[in-house]
Amino acid sequence: MAEPKENVLMEKITSLCKRRGFIFQSSEIYGGIQGFWDYGPLGAELKRNVKELWWSTMTRMRDDVVGLEATIIMHPAIWRASGHVDTFSDPMCDCLLTKKRFRADQIEFQSGNAYHYAGAKDTATGKEVVEPYAVLLAAGKPPESARKTAAQFYAQRGLQTVELIGETVAKVENSQRFNPENGSLLTPPVPFNLMFKTYVGPTATEADVAYLRPETAQAIFAQFKNVHETSRQKVPFGVAQMGKAFRNEVTPRNYTFRSREFEQMEREFFIKPDEAVEAVTAAVATPAAKGHPGEPQPNWGWQLWHQYWVEERIKFYEGIGLPRTTLEEYWQKPEELAHYARACVDILFKFPFGTQELEGIAARSDFDLSQHERCSGKAMGIFDEELRTAFGKLPPQKQTELKDRYYAARLKYLTKMGVSAAEAGAAAQEDADGLAKGQYIPHVIEPSAGVDRLILALLANAFTEVTETDAKGKSETRVVLRFHPRVAPIKVAVLPLLKNKPELAAKARAIFESLRGHMMAFHDEAGSIGRRYARQDEAGTPFCVTVDFETFEGIKDGPQAGVKDTVTIRHRDDGKQERIATSELLPWLLVRVK
Ligand code: ATP
Repeated sequence: MAEPKENVLMEKITSLCKRRGFIFQSSEIYGGIQGFWDYGPLGAELKRNVKELWWSTMTRMRDDVVGLEATIIMHPAIWRASGHVDTFSDPMCDCLLTKKRFRADQIEFQSGNAYHYAGAKDTATGKEVVEPYAVLLAAGKPPESARKTAAQFYAQRGLQTVELIGETVAKVENSQRFNPENGSLLTPPVPFNLMFKTYVGPTATEADVAYLRPETAQAIFAQFKNVHETSRQKVPFGVAQMGKAFRNEVTPRNYTFRSREFEQMEREFFIKPDEAVEAVTAAVATPAAKGHPGEPQPNWGWQLWHQYWVEERIKFYEGIGLPRTTLEEYWQKPEELAHYARACVDILFKFPFGTQELEGIAARSDFDLSQHERCSGKAMGIFDEELRTAFGKLPPQKQTELKDRYYAARLKYLTKMGVSAAEAGAAAQEDADGLAKGQYIPHVIEPSAGVDRLILALLANAFTEVTETDAKGKSETRVVLRFHPRVAPIKVAVLPLLKNKPELAAKARAIFESLRGHMMAFHDEAGSIGRRYARQDEAGTPFCVTVDFETFEGIKDGPQAGVKDTVTIRHRDDGKQERIATSELLPWLLVRVK
């Protein structure tokens, strides 16, 4: 069967999500609110599983990462220091005809003939409007369409019977200045800050403005010293946080992919500057090959740490059922990188609407902690005794070389931030002298992922249509969500074969009760067993456990004939069934769903 068209597939996924209670439109009974989504009973379980897996893989299972749970509203100075107040904006433009708003950089490039008008006149009243206007038509389209659109534009400005004035035509190549839907001219792009503003306290003046966090990461930097001092961690180590983030996206779209309220799973992994690594280990290791570089080593600089985290994150995705073939790495080009970033890799997923970012992994130098040090006046550096001792033993020439390199990097940062040449030079010198005494501001590798985008990726990856034909030749197509058991919302459904046999029903209920404390289990008595299996397939439940007559009477045939107290396990993906002892059920399931 041919693959469904992209938008058809998305429509199927969104309708399944609503029908089965994965995702609902927020405030639906009032017509919804754009860019906000609620997770229903199955979606809430799926999301919880994803977050718990990320937290345990990224935090609990590692010796070198600890957690943080910070507030959503923080001191607004944090967002000034991070650059969000000044630069966290998207270019926005409006259609002059329909007023529809666009993100200017997301408008597809268009070529064709642009019809320019100097204005228009009302032939009935003689009234003139001299507002210039233009319409872009794809090559080959008749000029009447451009005139019709222009007439609508001037009609909106009070002209009844429109005579267009000063029509000129010009060829246009790859322009983003026209609305792709109607060819109408767009307003010039203006930056639009994406942070949601609110007021803290009862007076609601400009002095009380605060922001809903647009990312979770900044709290990690702001609390770096507290976490470092209380967790007894030594650099290199990481701090993980997940939680809500808010962005007033100009054009929320592609279902939950670009929402205005969403959740992030972020981790800042603090590392030594390369000069400190070199002082301690004689040489910074250089990446030898692509792929996973193995267990972290003391001589790793930022490049190997960055490569390590890209690979670890891909490993995580593979471990929850997104094969590498569904993912792509996009290494940002030098001209695309933020001025402080050394490298940034986007992990992309092949969504039904295109291959797009799931997670970004950036090597952000020491920019963030440096900014908070400068803006708060609180020291963000750390003291490293091993570095101090090692530095002291280096030959003077090496000491000078490392200090010079560190000086140059610090000077570059300070100058970029607008610090005067004299002040920057003095501060960079102080920093270089500090390095020799074992002091530095940690650098950071930041893997930053979106929970909601991951949920959407898991849904798209799991969505499968199965067509079955019954004995009478009647075909039926149904949906099976092939989730990895670790993320599946319901791990096991316990079903009595027949509802009206009390001993079957009681046994199924007892098995369900014994499992529910260990995993998300479901108990379903209603409908034929085939229908109940199909319902579970559609919810993505990997295992169904059936209590039948053989549970009581003993297995009928085969090597285990006569053995009692067994149940049937049905596998979602191939429909295969196997019998196991009820007493074995819990351990059997645990190794497969955790
Ligand atoms: P994009 O370029 O798609 O807007 P971004 O590069 O601005 O994303 P980051 O600031 O790096 O995104 O945020 C890290 C992660 O947070 C993204 O990879 C994505 O998974 C998630 N994320 C960011 N913005 C949104 C959003 N509006 N809705 C849902 N998830 C988001």
